[in-house]
Amino acid sequence: MKSLPLNYDVIVVGAGPAGAIASKSLAMKGKKVALVDRRPKEKIGDKSCGDGLLSWAFDRVSEDISIDLPHGEEVGDEIKWSVVDSDKGMFVLKWETAGYVLNRHPWGQRLLREAEEAGAILWDNTRAIKALVDSDKVTGVEVKTKDETLELTSKLVIDCSGTVAVIRKSLPESMSPIMPKKNNKKLIAYCYREIIELDEPHDFAESIVLRYDSDVVFPGYFWFFSKGKNKVNVGTGFSKHGAFKELNVKDVFNDCLNKYYPEGNFKVLDSKGGQVPVSVPLPSMIANGFICAGDAACNANPATAEGIGPALIAGSYAGTIGAQAIDNDDLSIDALWKYNKMVMDAFGKDHAMQQIQIRALLEIGEDNFEFLLKRKILTPEDLAGYISLASALMKVVRIFPRFGLLRKLLKLKGEIKKIREHYDKYPSTPKDVEKWHIEMLEILKMPDFYE
Ligand SMILES: Cc1cc2nc3c(=O)[nH]c(=O)nc-3n(C[C@H](O)[C@H](O)[C@H](O)COP(=O)(O)OP(=O)(O)OC[C@H]3O[C@@H](n4cnc5c(N)ncnc54)[C@H](O)[C@@H]3O)c2cc1C
Repeated sequence: MKSLPLNYDVIVVGAGPAGAIASKSLAMKGKKVALVDRRPKEKIGDKSCGDGLLSWAFDRVSEDISIDLPHGEEVGDEIKWSVVDSDKGMFVLKWETAGYVLNRHPWGQRLLREAEEAGAILWDNTRAIKALVDSDKVTGVEVKTKDETLELTSKLVIDCSGTVAVIRKSLPESMSPIMPKKNNKKLIAYCYREIIELDEPHDFAESIVLRYDSDVVFPGYFWFFSKGKNKVNVGTGFSKHGAFKELNVKDVFNDCLNKYYPEGNFKVLDSKGGQVPVSVPLPSMIANGFICAGDAACNANPATAEGIGPALIAGSYAGTIGAQAIDNDDLSIDALWKYNKMVMDAFGKDHAMQQIQIRALLEIGEDNFEFLLKRKILTPEDLAGYISLASALMKVVRIFPRFGLLRKLLKLKGEIKKIREHYDKYPSTPKDVEKWHIEMLEILKMPDFYE
């Protein structure tokens, strides 16, 4: 192993979108950054993903960093349309959207390159094992290279290791009572996708298509994301709730694929599965000397499993707040708290409303949902990622005559208002966060992270 320094201002674990952006931001501000990833350099960014990235995320990243939009070989297709439909052919909803279906590997390699060019030192082929902790403060990371186990030390550690959240999970309970150590299995989406090349051009040009499919556990979906004229990223993902605990996601995927391409007129270019934590962000994502961001902090959208945009945003905020804390020589929970608040404001509140939307879909039921869409009582805008369901529910309430359903919808409408107001009141100091968290769970009726 090449000889690299062992002491840093910041150690960032994981060089995905969250880690690469955090590293770039901190290195640009003159901080000495170690970027640790278990993969070899040339494999970094090659992640199993639907590859969809909507443009809104770029508007919410920290103002002190600019991220070039995906371009050239990084783009499979530029997206102009979102489509929601159903395998029963009962409705097709289509609305204008700006975004990309990425080629994640070259895009991820670019983010990594920019972090290194800004001055971050890459420790590739290096597995982070656990946090080093002294007097309730994170002081570094134990890592394992190909040859040896080492202790890297730093003022701040940022965990961007994705779903595994390796550093967060290694912290002693006493250090972070409100930051859960484990991921609750009920809050995980199990996903599998293939990138296929068809013999002929497909019908999904410039589109991302979310299909409510009868083989997929509702409200999970099957997706078709265009990667150019003949190429599509197809996949499925769902939480294994209730009776579906034993369901194998790859089997479900194959059933769908056989249904949509019975003649097998395609070549599989890549196939991989993975997991996405789908919930609201953790109630706190910091400890003394520690921040987590991206999937490591449960930042993906609970309704769509869209996690790239949130990872970019949270990574950029970790860079901003981390650098300020180092400049002020104060890495305490109090000093880092602002990061939590920024994440809750940027997308935490939206994700909480989406969490209620999921429950609404489950309670309303698939057939009623289709009915609402088909009759255009719910519109595409109501379903679009970050628009509240409240106005849609109001419309339903006015014109929908089934009284049982009406009552449910009215209740949900009240809950959406309540959760929005609750997130506006996210505590500005750590003092009241436990109470805030308990109230949040009561409104969301979500399984707790700690179960
Ligand atoms: C099948 C599938 C489809 C998806 N589709 C979409 C989609 O279409 N759109 C979307 O927005 N999101 C999608 N997501 C979610 C999205 O991929 C993630 O939310 C996003 O990649 C999170 O970025 P991150 O930087 O937090 O983590 P990651 O991208 O997971 O990066 C984590 C990094 O940490 C490294 N690492 C892990 N453990 C260690 C360790 N112990 N030591 C050192 N390094 C470590 C990994 O090698 C990796 O480089 C999908 C996910 C899956 C699985």
